[in-house]
Amino acid sequence: MPALVELASIHPDVQTRAYWEFVKARELRFQKCEVCGAFRFPPLSGCRDCGASQSSWVAVAGRGRVFSYTVVHHPAIPEVREDVPYAVVVVEFDDAPGVHLVSNVLDVPPEEIEIGMQLELVWDEPSPGVILPRFARVRGEE
Ligand SMILES: [Zn+2]
Repeated sequence: MPALVELASIHPDVQTRAYWEFVKARELRFQKCEVCGAFRFPPLSGCRDCGASQSSWVAVAGRGRVFSYTVVHHPAIPEVREDVPYAVVVVEFDDAPGVHLVSNVLDVPPEEIEIGMQLELVWDEPSPGVILPRFARVRGEE
């Protein structure tokens, strides 16, 4: 599978460190404003909606759907030469409105991905010690 998300995970900054620490423990958690309840992703020091800085990290069940996607045909970096074509999906969640997570669907060929496809979280370990939230199609519930 493509290494793009993996590459993005290598350099967490002060805002994203907590997110990646949870991911390492196979917990998908998103930052939620303690004042107005809005989710923040990518993580930020202040709420986009109300400006408050107080937040907590709320675990989600990992059920959601394809909000958008694109199919990559050209290997922009040598590391993904063997993986093209592959789909990059934007996932939205049942229990974290407003969050859009960029990831991949593991069990679906790119030409079968469609907007609205029901997904569930799968923890992937593409290389030892590198844990990534990826997704599988939920069958028979559409
Ligand atoms: Zn807020």
